Amino acid sequence: MMSDKLSQNIRYVKGVGEKRAELFEKLGVSSVGTLVSLYPRHYESWEEPVSVADAVVGEVNCIKARIAKEPTEQRIRKNMTVYKCIATDGLCNLYITFFNNRFVKNALKEGQEFLFLGKVTGGLIRKEMSSPAYKSANKTSPLRPVYPQTAGLNSTAIHKAVQNALIQLQGEDIEILTPKIMNDHSLIGKYEALNLIHNPKNMQDVERARKRLIFEELLILQLGMRLMGSERQTSGTIINDLSVEFIKKLPFTLTGAQSRVISECANDMKSGYTMNRLVEGDVGSGKTAVAAAVCYSVIKNGYQAAMMAPTEVLARQHYKSFCDFYNGTGITVGLLTGSMTPAQKRKEYEKLKSGQTQMIVGTHALISENVDYNRLALVVTDEQHRFGVKQRARLSQKGARPHMLVMSATPIPRTLSLIIYGDMQLSVLDEMPKGRKPVMTYSVTGDYRTRIWAFLKKHLDSGNQGYIVCPLVEDSEGSELVSAEKQAKDLAEYEFGDYSVGLLHGKMKSSQKDEIMRRFKEGEIKLLVSTTVIEVGVDVPNATVMVIENAERFGLSQLHQLRGRVGRGQKDSYCILISDSKSETSKARLKIMTETSNGFKIADEDLRLRGPGDFFGDRQHGLPPLEIADMTKDASVLKTTGELASLILNADPTLSSERLKKLRLAVQDLFGTESFNCFG
Ligand code: ADP
Ligand code: MG
Repeated sequence: MMSDKLSQNIRYVKGVGEKRAELFEKLGVSSVGTLVSLYPRHYESWEEPVSVADAVVGEVNCIKARIAKEPTEQRIRKNMTVYKCIATDGLCNLYITFFNNRFVKNALKEGQEFLFLGKVTGGLIRKEMSSPAYKSANKTSPLRPVYPQTAGLNSTAIHKAVQNALIQLQGEDIEILTPKIMNDHSLIGKYEALNLIHNPKNMQDVERARKRLIFEELLILQLGMRLMGSERQTSGTIINDLSVEFIKKLPFTLTGAQSRVISECANDMKSGYTMNRLVEGDVGSGKTAVAAAVCYSVIKNGYQAAMMAPTEVLARQHYKSFCDFYNGTGITVGLLTGSMTPAQKRKEYEKLKSGQTQMIVGTHALISENVDYNRLALVVTDEQHRFGVKQRARLSQKGARPHMLVMSATPIPRTLSLIIYGDMQLSVLDEMPKGRKPVMTYSVTGDYRTRIWAFLKKHLDSGNQGYIVCPLVEDSEGSELVSAEKQAKDLAEYEFGDYSVGLLHGKMKSSQKDEIMRRFKEGEIKLLVSTTVIEVGVDVPNATVMVIENAERFGLSQLHQLRGRVGRGQKDSYCILISDSKSETSKARLKIMTETSNGFKIADEDLRLRGPGDFFGDRQHGLPPLEIADMTKDASVLKTTGELASLILNADPTLSSERLKKLRLAVQDLFGTESFNCFG
């Protein structure tokens, strides 16, 4: 734990007490440390007031104006009294209304000048404000912090509690960074930063505080990420490159990018250091073949390789791919998933332990306690963004420093991959196998449905298959969204009465899902109505049309992933995005989909339009949430702290020196001690 004072329960902070403490708990605040890092959302700025004439309608303005007509009182019903007054800048009037606020009668005196802070409504002719905050114009006051609030706990109450906590911390040693780091990067001290962020006099104060706090947050994050992957420092198993044998047997010629990435991996694995490499490759760029080539060398050197996939469906598909790829090589391929019976699992455990299974493909089941490997030397994880960082660490603990290869199909914006994979080497598969045609993509409104169904029928009639993707599993009350269950029922009954329609969604049992997928793969089901469960990696080359309902509800990268389910064969393929959204951002986003098939470009645009929430929202990365830094805006700091983290760890790989103890504790605090096996 951190300094005693910081870990103290907030109940003992003056003015908090038992009851408030419970409310604070809702905001994720339980200790003095978390209380003082509950940073203001924004600041009410009384700086640089404008005249009524210059105030912008529809925005929050701070207006300087003189009272021209004192508040008049008007009782409109029981418990509701309205006070109206007029302020002026000499040219323009501002019409102000207060509700149930009798204090304004005495406060706002004719002829006196005030600052009014609030949203301006009305029009250019008549500007209005409703219940603005106000203060006398000749009192110059600092910025007022506005905190995230919860019922029963307003911003002022939070600010008071924070103030008391800051008083308690006065004179305590809460510094985490060394004097040299602060000096080198012109950072203020921790206490000063906390004090300024809660009590700034002006925006420069806020900036100085933010600079320090963001730096600290990102440094700790990057140190943690590197420490979890720190086994890269030590030497791994030496693997001689035998992939040429494998490549010769492939039914196709590798793309230049595939060959390059395979040799990058080969070089890593014979270097005497543990490979820790990320392969980013767009949907369909042929990552599985790369993985199979790399695993081949490992196995032919006498070791085991494992490939972990995020879903049952994907694991089985990879299992089949590996069986096909290794046909005639004498390699034994095994499968291990959660849905197998205990007896089946036990059998596979034995084969893994004895070394009989050389290539194992599976889901999370691969990192279960019961699994012992014989000579595990390479771990491949597919669609890594779906696994927590901790799981990655756990799988690597299964072998004696196995090589790590991570496959990511969701192109992650560069800034984000720097953080998530800051400790890894990067390979990019930036070339598609020859003959791939881009999926023709259209964005339309729901009015087009009849025409879309006709188009879809034409394709089914010529022997192709199609997908319809919906945002919901089942209809839910009050929601206008299209659900997969209802859509499947309706279409099977009416428009597609003569076709076999299947339904696939995440609430089904995995055996049911597998059965549906099998029937779709074998062409028995022509039209598959589903939720996003088909998102990752599913390969049915005969599917040529995908229709996506309520397309505005999906992230762009997710749409890109979904779209990647079609266009996997030689035929022309289509993706039709249906959306009735009127929002300009939604329209702009969907337009991007129609214009490019480059996953990296799409990811960058998505990040620009929607912010990092899409990537970090559901915390699938296993990354701790950030309190103050913003991945999109603080990319340059990210680079600096990344370099510093490497510098620090090169000199002291486990942060064991006394000087760095506080930093180490902060890292452990953030990720949880169990995430690290380097701290002994
Ligand atoms: P992804 O990168 O999306 O995981 P896959 O590995 O599933 O892509 O490959 C998609 C399809 O392309 C598979 O059917 C695979 O056999 C095929 N493929 C891979 N590499 C090549 C290549 N160089 N030439 C032709 N087809 C290829
Ligand atoms: Mg794949």
